[in-house]
Amino acid sequence: MTPPSPPITVTQPYLPPLEEFIPYLEHIWKSKRLTNGGPFHQQLETELARYLGVEHLSLFANGTLALVTALQALRITGEVITTPYTFAATTHSLLWNNIKPVFVDIDQHTCNLDPDRIEEAITPATTAILPVHCYGFPCDVERIERIADTYGLKVIYDAAHAFGVRSNGRSILRHGDLSILSFHATKVFNTFEGGAIVCPDAKIKQRVDYLKNFGFANEVTVVAPGINGKMNEVSAAMGLLQLKHVDQALDDRATIHRRYVQAFQDVPTLHVQQAPAGLVWNHAYCPLFVRPGHPINRDTLYETLKANGIHARRYFYPLISSLPMYRGLPSAAATHLPNAHLLAGQVICLPIYPSLGTEDQARLIDVVLQSAR
Ligand SMILES: *Cc1c(COP(=O)(O)O)cnc(C)c1O
Repeated sequence: MTPPSPPITVTQPYLPPLEEFIPYLEHIWKSKRLTNGGPFHQQLETELARYLGVEHLSLFANGTLALVTALQALRITGEVITTPYTFAATTHSLLWNNIKPVFVDIDQHTCNLDPDRIEEAITPATTAILPVHCYGFPCDVERIERIADTYGLKVIYDAAHAFGVRSNGRSILRHGDLSILSFHATKVFNTFEGGAIVCPDAKIKQRVDYLKNFGFANEVTVVAPGINGKMNEVSAAMGLLQLKHVDQALDDRATIHRRYVQAFQDVPTLHVQQAPAGLVWNHAYCPLFVRPGHPINRDTLYETLKANGIHARRYFYPLISSLPMYRGLPSAAATHLPNAHLLAGQVICLPIYPSLGTEDQARLIDVVLQSAR
């Protein structure tokens, strides 16, 4: 059975050499510890916290359960201010907690929640802000913190894209009350499926640990109607092995991104987003914005790439505020979210992953450049 070689897609999982994974599996088979906070789970929590430069973290089966649980850990209710320019899981986590999402527009340049627009969206029912570090670019964490402090709001960052991102030498995951990570196969660092809540102190980690294990505090005490959010030992082992290779994977991503920047720098109607000074970015995505005046529009470029066997993605189109379960909200009106609509109509995320070959990338760049002629 010869598996087909993968097509060029927007992202492909980073897979360490298979032979390096076998010893971990043998260990699991021998110990018969498959899940429930086994040794690999504990080791990964410790090693990841050290690698990321955070105090504590609690591993999860996926990022979505981490989001749902983070909201419960802080007892968030009522209304939460969030961005429409994100993946569905961000906003769905609010509905799973019976919380009303309130959409606020994004900044045109950062793609993140616009701090200038947050205060006008606050009502007596607002309890928290749920921003996203979109594409791994940090939100304006200082201004968001000041607004949250002024109005007594909690802040939970959806940091699903922000693995390893550091601003002025400090992990971006140390901001807000909690941050959540995703280790899904398509993310910078993967455990097949997985995620985490980054916690500032041991007390909140304790509560999160209970909540992800049905609310069990011990064998006979259940303190909350918790969910099953635990990460299993095979995923935790994958994480430990990935950690050994992740710096190389991040370097490879940076190289690929640099090639895109160079290739399109002389085309005024194509804009590749770049990291601001002082930022250690993870090159999680390569958003390319097709500006007005380009010979073909974004959707035609998307179709052209597809016809050439290259499956790019229009993250984040459609906007979450346009989905059937959200579009009836007053804050979902298009007139209220002009920047989000503008970028959702221009963006195309180009393939970026460590195993993307130089020749494949060159061909891809060629297809895009042809469109500029
Ligand atoms: C991937 C992603 C999630 C969800 O993570 P899963 O691990 O797939 O459940 C949440 N938010 C954003 C912004 C994401 O990109």
